[in-house]
Amino acid sequence: MSKKAGWYERINPVVRGIPPSGIRKFFDMVTEMKGVISLGVGEPDFVTPWHIREGCIYSLEKGYTMYTSNQGLLELREEIVRDLDISYSVTYDARREILITVGVSEGLDLAIRALVSPGDEVLIPEPSYVSYAPTTTLAGGVPVTMPTTVENDFRLTAEIVEKRITPRTKILLLCYPNNPTGAVLRRRDMLEIAEVVRHHDLIVISDEIYDKLTYVGSHTCFPSIPGMQDRTVLLNGFSKAYAMTGWRIGYAAANPYFIEAMNKIHQYGILCAPITAQMAALEALKNGRDGMVRMVQQYNRRRHMVMQSFKEMGLHCFEPGGAFYAFPDIIPTGLAAEEFAERLLREEKVAVIPGNAFGPSGEGFVRCSYAASMEDLGEAFRRMTSFVRRSGVRPKTVVNL
Ligand code: PLP
Repeated sequence: MSKKAGWYERINPVVRGIPPSGIRKFFDMVTEMKGVISLGVGEPDFVTPWHIREGCIYSLEKGYTMYTSNQGLLELREEIVRDLDISYSVTYDARREILITVGVSEGLDLAIRALVSPGDEVLIPEPSYVSYAPTTTLAGGVPVTMPTTVENDFRLTAEIVEKRITPRTKILLLCYPNNPTGAVLRRRDMLEIAEVVRHHDLIVISDEIYDKLTYVGSHTCFPSIPGMQDRTVLLNGFSKAYAMTGWRIGYAAANPYFIEAMNKIHQYGILCAPITAQMAALEALKNGRDGMVRMVQQYNRRRHMVMQSFKEMGLHCFEPGGAFYAFPDIIPTGLAAEEFAERLLREEKVAVIPGNAFGPSGEGFVRCSYAASMEDLGEAFRRMTSFVRRSGVRPKTVVNL
């Protein structure tokens, strides 16, 4: 559309200044092509388990079609509290400390808008999920990124955090297991980071949407670290673990002051999360554990297969400990991340996301989601291998003398 009409100039300059997501460009290209195997989307290939869908259908039959309270159904909040207690021994008050949100996406926006004043700095690990920096900017805050490196297993350390702290730093955002690298933090790392948080009196927003998808060691829920619960907004949801992306349902857990402030924004903007999705989430928590564990086992099998495929291809890939992404180093192909992704899509019809869509430190990598069937993964990796071979990369051969 032409910018001449002056409509463009009338858009809020803050919104104008935000670049479109680097992921969207690839989705747009994929929808225009036929026969593409997409390893681009961060979305389970499973359909939501039947009993969860059925739970929702029954609730509709029983007439559950109204608004709920702004904070969400008390029964769901109580189940969340129970789940957090069983999983991580953290205790929350269902009436005052839990807010049901439209996915982690809304929870993130609410937490940042409720806590950030103009000019406040928000520390964000990098590479990381595409929403963190724009959400901060839209709230008038200043995103300050903390690059992590493959040499250090994409771990965020207390030292990296400490280096970025200024008198304006207010929030530390954490996302482990990480999108896009699949990195997990060791408990020791978390304890050291918690010390920095305490020392500088920071607030933590911990996006733990991939907590159940942890394959190496066990997940440490940040608020379970002594002294951290009061200063942490825990965000989680049902999209990934229960294959419920389209339902748009998640939650925030925090101290009553933060939850009340977030609920203020939520009640005017959203009113409440859809009751249908809340009923489905309730069923997921009550009876969905076994199904969820089976899906996680499948992801883990695929993770091993993907690691083996990159090895045979001759590309080094950091071993992801969680989530469902692999983040291989594509530098040996001689291509930049965008060029690699664009050419792989055009020449072999395989969609991956260039690593720099997740921040400049993602250059030299691409994100491949392994939330795809074994069959699709097998074919995608056959195609990717021919593509990588054409660039001259060969697997390292081991010579047994
Ligand atoms: N946080 C992370 C790290 C994600 O990767 C995603 C989706 O890919 C989200 C949040 C959004 O989650 P939801 O579907 O609950 O809004």
